[in-house]
Amino acid sequence: MALFRRKRRSSPAVSSAGQARHQPWFDHGLANGETVTCGRCAGELGVRLQSQSSVTVSHDGALDGIALICTECGRLICRDCALAASDNPYLPKCHHCGGGVTIPMSR
Ligand SMILES: [Zn+2]
Ligand SMILES: [Zn+2]
Repeated sequence: MALFRRKRRSSPAVSSAGQARHQPWFDHGLANGETVTCGRCAGELGVRLQSQSSVTVSHDGALDGIALICTECGRLICRDCALAASDNPYLPKCHHCGGGVTIPMSR
């Protein structure tokens, strides 16, 4: 297991539009190691949070049983369902809204 290095970033790089960007992959309230269910197939998934500084996403079996999160609607989804919702095996998508999915991150 990698050590999480926390970097304090008090000023996120958002424009002064005044609208905070919705970031479900941060605002998920999940804890590392938590067990969740896929929003589509109800399969059991483990939460493996990525730290911001070391994001490594691989497309082999490393994502088996790992919870992915939709960057649009915040639904949790398994890799198989995300891939089934997409034509591109390298671009898993949300089955619900078609948004991109990613591994949830810790702040
Ligand atoms: Zn699923
Ligand atoms: Zn979605």
